[in-house]
Amino acid sequence: MAYYIPLNGRFLNKETMELDSPVKLPLPDSLLSDANNQSKDCAVLHGFVFRTIENPTSSDIVMCGPHALLPAPIPRKYFHQLAQVQIYINELLYLISKDYDFIRETLKSATVSDNFTGRLLKILETTLKEDIAGTGVLALLRSDYFLDGSTDEMLPKMVEINTIASGAGAIQSNLTPVHKYTTQLLGGRCDVEKSLPTNNNIEKYSNAFVKAWEIYGTPKAAIIFVVSRTERNIFDQRLIEFGIKKINWDIPIKRVTLLDIGSKGKLSDDRRLIVDSTEVAIVYYRDGYIPSHFTSEMEWNAVFMAARSRAICCPNVSLHLAGTKKVQQVIAKPGMVERFISNPDKVKAIRATFTGQYSLDIGAEGDEAIAMAINSPENFVMKPNKEGGGNNIYGVDIRTKLLEIQNTSERNAYILMDRIFPVTVPGYKVVSSPELPKLQNMVSEFGMFGALVSDGNDVVLNEFAGHLVRTKPNGVDEGGIMVGVSISDTPFLVEF
Ligand code: ADP
Ligand code: MG
Repeated sequence: MAYYIPLNGRFLNKETMELDSPVKLPLPDSLLSDANNQSKDCAVLHGFVFRTIENPTSSDIVMCGPHALLPAPIPRKYFHQLAQVQIYINELLYLISKDYDFIRETLKSATVSDNFTGRLLKILETTLKEDIAGTGVLALLRSDYFLDGSTDEMLPKMVEINTIASGAGAIQSNLTPVHKYTTQLLGGRCDVEKSLPTNNNIEKYSNAFVKAWEIYGTPKAAIIFVVSRTERNIFDQRLIEFGIKKINWDIPIKRVTLLDIGSKGKLSDDRRLIVDSTEVAIVYYRDGYIPSHFTSEMEWNAVFMAARSRAICCPNVSLHLAGTKKVQQVIAKPGMVERFISNPDKVKAIRATFTGQYSLDIGAEGDEAIAMAINSPENFVMKPNKEGGGNNIYGVDIRTKLLEIQNTSERNAYILMDRIFPVTVPGYKVVSSPELPKLQNMVSEFGMFGALVSDGNDVVLNEFAGHLVRTKPNGVDEGGIMVGVSISDTPFLVEF
């Protein structure tokens, strides 16, 4: 076991009295060079790979995924708490998604200037007028957290909940054996089996898919993975496809684009979704969550048709909308979790992860938040209702943006959130480069997956479904994994 004590938002190893990861840092150059090379080889051999930027449509040549050399410390008790909280969050989001009036009311102001959310809300309105009762639900979610480095408790604070395309957990499960290897290679004083938890995202997701497919109840009907034409991250999706097949080889699985559905799909008289002569049981969106995924009306046609069909959409439009930043801001208000969940212990556990969120809507409350943000922008993050990273505004840019839009309805399309200053841990990035990695102060975002299946009336499955860790250099506001700014990581459970 590795014992740590907190020190100014960092982990201090009780034994060595060093600020550290599982091993003593910095590493001497010769050891670092060898570990860097071995880590890449080990990652490739365990299938922690992506397609390349040059050849995003072919698996002939693949690249080692950018990753941390060593796993990211998180107090064991927090990791287990968050796993349990995820089950409550699954329930919360499911209940929100069934409360159409709440979704409509909450998003009304945002849609004045946010066309994307507005369009989804319109689709929801239309489908509500039709009879969609009885359709099953498949929710695959992920909640992301930072450990708050501003106090010695290092409490986990929620960054956001994702309700669409919450992926990357399957491919990241291949990183756990790599970190077990490198941690031991570098003499990490810990029991790697106890300190590096198994990531069962593939099994949990696959199982949820199979349950939902059974609820749809037509043996020939397929699960379709809705993907983009170029998928560098195809292996993450493939692992789930193979995982489903491992449970039931007879489940048909197809990979299609939104354009395929929009142009070739049709609805039967009894609202079965047919794509290329195949009936669809489940529409799993790994695309279609940002405006740029919609280049024509054809893609919107696809989403509309799927929403009107009997097929189980993962997520359905309502759950997609429940994952917007605006809904999350409103849910963080006092009394709002309680509106959906009556058990006080569950409410308390969920609320403990929240940090301050504020409406920027036109009105007194929004004005107050704007004044606060203009006064000390460094303490906030300004978020639009968008997904996929790279959309938020930080620091002085918040002031500039707010001064520009404070008298327009554009401000309704954003929310304000307290900035979390995460725990920092020194570490190395293993990336595609001939140079030796440099020791940098890193911050890690811990993602907890959840899976929930309902038959339309009752919840038949609700589980914690694995984890995901993304690490980036401290001070970098945002940066994608695929471009190597953020890197993949795994949790290292420490006693605390
Ligand atoms: P997206 O849907 O684009 O992933 P997020 O809310 O996750 O939106 O924000 C993107 C990134 O911005 C996060 O991964 C995190 O690095 C950073 N971020 C978001 N909210 C906060 C916050 N409250 N404090 C500090 N950093 C944040
Ligand atoms: Mg995010």
